[in-house]
Amino acid sequence: MTRKGPGNPGGVPRWVGRGPGNPRGVPRWVGAWRGVGLGRLLGFPVRLDLSWFAGLAVLVLLSRELWAPAVAGPAAVGLSAVFAVAFFGCVLVHELAHALAARAVGVPTAEIRLFIFGGVARITSEPADPGAEVLVAMAGPLASVVLAGLADLASWTLPGPGGDLLALLFLGNLVVAGFNLLPGFPLDGGRVARALVWHLTGRRLLATRVTALLGRALAVTLVLGGAAAALWQQTPRWLPQVVLGLFLWQAAADGERSAARAQLLAGRAERG
Ligand SMILES: [Zn+2]
Repeated sequence: MTRKGPGNPGGVPRWVGRGPGNPRGVPRWVGAWRGVGLGRLLGFPVRLDLSWFAGLAVLVLLSRELWAPAVAGPAAVGLSAVFAVAFFGCVLVHELAHALAARAVGVPTAEIRLFIFGGVARITSEPADPGAEVLVAMAGPLASVVLAGLADLASWTLPGPGGDLLALLFLGNLVVAGFNLLPGFPLDGGRVARALVWHLTGRRLLATRVTALLGRALAVTLVLGGAAAALWQQTPRWLPQVVLGLFLWQAAADGERSAARAQLLAGRAERG
């Protein structure tokens, strides 16, 4: 999919654009660089987007003061780096759960990619029915809740900064599960909502449009809320939320377009 050729001189991955090869609606710019391959995990290729390194740096910067007063200075930065890597490890498990569920319902995953705001399991087609969609969508948040439980249990047995790190991982996994369960498409909760509307109306494209609208509303809330908080408190701490909102807006738009295109192709296949 990334071969260089006359129509693709830079070897830019073709799936980067919207279309049936990008059914999860990953914004085009997310795949703008190929990133760093980490090999295969359970048969799924895993790749670090170059933006992931920025995400890692932001997470270290935001968490480095949380260990005070027990740990400060370079040791705090080191602890934050361990936390950030462990957190993205948990995000990887979340995406692996989506990919395994997709495999169980017969949908292959082309790649799992970690990027600045988390990860995405790039499945190669839409699940065939609402039940399969719910299964694939819920697998990730369920994995995050299980990881949160394990981190919480472990944090009680480990004293000191190690326990604090596990307690923060507990919170981090809950945030990942909670945020992803918000009902805006293409978040996991939005996919569950889409499956529900799809089940009730029998119309997948209508279900996508309705839940993508919720996704956009969520995006606007994040952008306006983050910008207002940043201005009010005079701190750039809220800016990641603004960027996340912009990302979600783009993802909702791209997801809607790729669903429309998949619908068109499916219609053609039925007629053919
Ligand atoms: Zn997910």
